Amino acid sequence: MINLLDLDLDGLVAFCEQLGEKRFRAVQLARWIHQRGEADVSRMSDLARTLRDKLAACAEVRSLRVVSEHASADGTVKWLFDVGDGNAVETVFIPESDRGTLCISSQAGCAVGCRFCSTGHQGFSRNLRTGEILAQLWHAEHSLRRRGVQAAAGERVITNVVMMGMGEPLQNYAQVVPALRLMLDDHGYGLSRRRVTVSTSGVVPMIDRLRDDCPVALAVSLHAPDDALRDQLVPLNRKYPLAELLAACRRYLSAAPRDFVTFEYCMLAGVNDAPAQARDLAALVREAGVACKFNLIPFNPFPQSGLVRSTPQAVAAFADVLTRAGIVTTVRRTRGDDIDAACGQLAGEVRDRTDAAARRVRTPVRVVAAATTAAALRGAP
Ligand code: SAH
Ligand code: SF4
Repeated sequence: MINLLDLDLDGLVAFCEQLGEKRFRAVQLARWIHQRGEADVSRMSDLARTLRDKLAACAEVRSLRVVSEHASADGTVKWLFDVGDGNAVETVFIPESDRGTLCISSQAGCAVGCRFCSTGHQGFSRNLRTGEILAQLWHAEHSLRRRGVQAAAGERVITNVVMMGMGEPLQNYAQVVPALRLMLDDHGYGLSRRRVTVSTSGVVPMIDRLRDDCPVALAVSLHAPDDALRDQLVPLNRKYPLAELLAACRRYLSAAPRDFVTFEYCMLAGVNDAPAQARDLAALVREAGVACKFNLIPFNPFPQSGLVRSTPQAVAAFADVLTRAGIVTTVRRTRGDDIDAACGQLAGEVRDRTDAAARRVRTPVRVVAAATTAAALRGAP
């Protein structure tokens, strides 16, 4: 059975052609599935009975099984979806006065293995398929609508999508791009490119491909002002060091729907939160010529991370240095604290298949910038 959620509009057109149907049938299908949330082809009433029968025989809308759903007092909703073989991924809806943002996952686990990320500590299980990525949006949009979550006039409940859940989206490029296309398609979710954000730890060649194939808003997880520290925090930096990463960001801006890149920076006490590091960071992005904004994310602790969240004072002082250097800087508010929906705490239930945690114990961390850095990092398992 074909899963219709695996197909973007081009895919639906090709599928309809195989069935001997015209292009506009694909448009009808996309609108039934993604705009109206209809999963049952027999109820797609403006399709000919013969087509509905053909479809029922070979295709279905296969969403993901919901393992759990938690709603927080502040309106945040978190779903845990079963993706088979003991793996689960998380999706989080964050309502704000002027928008509804959905944070979705691209992989079960993640192979990058960042020190401060609970997904990274679990290791990599597998890439999600396009349909599994889209199912998160499909399920969230339509279940929120059914329960009456109000959207602004003419808007969908979900107005923004950020690929900031589990996984490194640019290490699952082939499955992610069709999902992005359907988010943007007028017959799908009709989101503007500015309202769909891919967040990456810095897969340089894929940043270039995204610029050519499907430029959406780009967020890059920086976390350190120099290679020595970034090598420790984001192991992918050893392959694509800062100079190459920033050059890719600059190239991306030529096609980007926004005229800046968002740099995410996870604030870790005694590791990357000193004012001198903020000054280095400002100099780094200025010299690289990348128009940017900074989003400081206070570290969300998880068991055995061995790392500590920066104090609010340290975060404020860090933000102040960046702001004075002329860089727009925001501090991410923690949302859904009561349901563990904060970024980096996703899906503790995912099975650790690659023994990443054990590998880490055997690999002692080198002393990097300062004694406090080494102490904080060494605490990690
Ligand atoms: N793999 C992509 C997208 C998913 S992570 C990336 O790394 O960009 C989304 C964001 O959450 C990243 O900026 C990541 O660095 C941050 N993050 C991960 N773990 C975190 C934690 N424990 N506390 C705060 N932010 C965290
Ligand atoms: Fe993967 Fe992103 Fe977590 Fe790093 S921060 S381990 S890239 S999900």
